[in-house]
Amino acid sequence: MPEFRQNYATKEWIILAPERGKRPHDWARESKPETVAAVDPYVSDCPFCAGNEDKTTDAVYVWPSENDWQVRVVSNKFAALQRDLNPVRNLDGAFLAAEGFGIADVVIEHPKHDRTLATMTVGEVEQVLRGYVARQVAMNADDRVNLVTIFRNHGARAGTSLEHPHSQIIATPIVPPHVRYPIERAVHHYDQYGRCVYCDMLGEEIRQGDRVIMETSGFVAFCPFAAKSPFECRIYPKRHLASFFLLGEQELAELAGMLRTVLAKIYHGLHNPDYNYIIRSAPVGDHDTRYLHWYMVIIPKITIPAGFELGSGIYINTTTPEDAAEFLRETDIP
Ligand SMILES: [Zn+2]
Ligand SMILES: [Zn+2]
Repeated sequence: MPEFRQNYATKEWIILAPERGKRPHDWARESKPETVAAVDPYVSDCPFCAGNEDKTTDAVYVWPSENDWQVRVVSNKFAALQRDLNPVRNLDGAFLAAEGFGIADVVIEHPKHDRTLATMTVGEVEQVLRGYVARQVAMNADDRVNLVTIFRNHGARAGTSLEHPHSQIIATPIVPPHVRYPIERAVHHYDQYGRCVYCDMLGEEIRQGDRVIMETSGFVAFCPFAAKSPFECRIYPKRHLASFFLLGEQELAELAGMLRTVLAKIYHGLHNPDYNYIIRSAPVGDHDTRYLHWYMVIIPKITIPAGFELGSGIYINTTTPEDAAEFLRETDIP
């Protein structure tokens, strides 16, 4: 029986319509069997491989040193937005426009080409997260910036043709309706109940338990009740915190362990599917708000939104988050 489910925080609806007879491991059979380990550790024309640093712009962040780096952050040469522009809105007749100001970074996560977060050590993943923090703090300091989005595209279906392990950070002067609307819902919830809607939601996910993938003292990973697509995973800090960059040292290490584990379960269990992940923080200036709670969403790209999804905004998910979470809980990491 198909079912409508509502996202507790955003009030968006999804349709859960499991395909008859299809089990979570059937997705693994359909996805590509090769792994990133099949590619070479060094590719001569890859701009992100160690040894090819002259093919990128100068680093804006490097760890631990330029000569022997693990993480190297550079400006995106092919960015849609440029940092030397003015974000002031102008009218073109009745229509609003502004110069395309923005700051776009590429976070090169590892010197070697044949790695991905799922196959790195936890210590290496932690250094990537520290790079995110450093760059988010630097972008927040620019008073033209209102929103910093950290994301990772893995594979062609997720929007990248570059194999080398990397993620991106884009700072924009605009907080779009897609981000603002859930904030308004969260403010409404806070005014009604005096509590953060995300704290309430993750508390309920932990209480129900059947969609939880793993839990540590500070974080929880689960497939949400109203997951939009098969194997959508979310990671939330248990303590209320509106922005990612405010995490403490110990928390970053703990998050690295959880992120690496969840990605490795997806990598091994579903055979290295393409995916996007996104870290959603409060807009700049709202970092200490009691309404918002930062989180990370991981979306394996094993289905493609079609006309109904694009037209209605109602996603049809063919794998229950309960089945997906059980599958990921039981997937062993070699
Ligand atoms: Zn490379
Ligand atoms: Zn909260």
